[in-house]
Amino acid sequence: MTNRFSLESRELETFMGQMFVICPRCGGRADVIEKANEVRLSCLKCGHLQSNQTGTKYIGGAFDVHFGLPLYLQTSCCGHVLWAYNREHLDYLKRYIEATIRTSEGANRSIESRLPEWMKRKQNRDEVSRAIAKLEQIR
Ligand SMILES: [Zn+2]
Repeated sequence: MTNRFSLESRELETFMGQMFVICPRCGGRADVIEKANEVRLSCLKCGHLQSNQTGTKYIGGAFDVHFGLPLYLQTSCCGHVLWAYNREHLDYLKRYIEATIRTSEGANRSIESRLPEWMKRKQNRDEVSRAIAKLEQIR
């Protein structure tokens, strides 16, 4: 048997520990990390620091959930925006898309329901795969 259903089903929240955002000062990659009751944004490139109370306010878009800053890993795809909070999240999306390519039907419902409909559409798979590959090149 194949291990096509071995993809663990994960909530979006489990990827929120570290988020890559576009630094509001230099436009480079800044990290948003949650620690205790505080959220800290730090940019390795320009040293910009910002902190905020925890609180997930901007869920479900191409923004970090605490500051509402645009995510670093995002690109247009199929008339939508494909985005990921971090590399682990991007890798998860990739494995999901690859898994659905291998299985035409019968994919795990609980995983399917967590991604937007357009990403799961058969005719969009090539473009989604290309968009993910493009984001993987970003350093
Ligand atoms: Zn910066």
